[in-house]
Amino acid sequence: MHVTFLGTGSAMPTGERFQTGILVQNDGRQLLIDCGSGVLHRLQQSGVGYENISTVLLTHHHLDHVADLLPLMKARWLAGEEHLEVVGPQGTKGLLDDLLNVHEYMQGKIDLQVREVVPGEFTVAGFDVSAYETRHSLPCLAYRFDDRFVFSGDSEAFAGLANFAEGAAILAHDCSFPDDVDVSNHPTPETLGRELAGREIGRVYLTHLYPHTDSRHEEMLESIGRQYDGDVRFAEDLKTISIE
Ligand SMILES: [Zn+2]
Ligand SMILES: [Zn+2]
Repeated sequence: MHVTFLGTGSAMPTGERFQTGILVQNDGRQLLIDCGSGVLHRLQQSGVGYENISTVLLTHHHLDHVADLLPLMKARWLAGEEHLEVVGPQGTKGLLDDLLNVHEYMQGKIDLQVREVVPGEFTVAGFDVSAYETRHSLPCLAYRFDDRFVFSGDSEAFAGLANFAEGAAILAHDCSFPDDVDVSNHPTPETLGRELAGREIGRVYLTHLYPHTDSRHEEMLESIGRQYDGDVRFAEDLKTISIE
């Protein structure tokens, strides 16, 4: 399995990190998780291209996770790829209906299938996925791909999510801010380290990074490391990880 970070930023631009998007590939199958602003461009830069993405799995409906959905749809339509499946938490059908009501000319242009999922197991684009409800300001799902990859979506750090991630080769976890930012709905390095303490996880990548984290990576890693002694790194746009 290959996991490529297309966007490791958040709702506030850094100039280097685009909004959330992660590409999961295995045996010729591809799945895009989230489609924030800039992800369509990163897809092209990754060499995969929007033509090859026919399924998008959404963690939740904040703009920084869905902003490029209609641009993706339009690009696919122009390229003659007239099918797209969008899978996401409850309300995803309403979201797509509303977006297409705003951009009416896109209605009926492509064969759009929308599927809503709840915490538990399901299959998407040929991948067996488990979903777990996170702690965020909108309903949000974390996703797990067997013992290989877990993506937290947007979430505070908490024991339930750490349990959900335990045993995975790779965990990509929201780590939006450094410790001195007073934040709810997202973790800080301190809270993330506390919840990951003692867990068996192959490697953790920090993502969903606000500009506040720029030039503070070292202290953030130190903060996590005070309680969690595993391998923790910062995700970067267009970085690909191979997972056995
Ligand atoms: Zn969010
Ligand atoms: Zn977000």
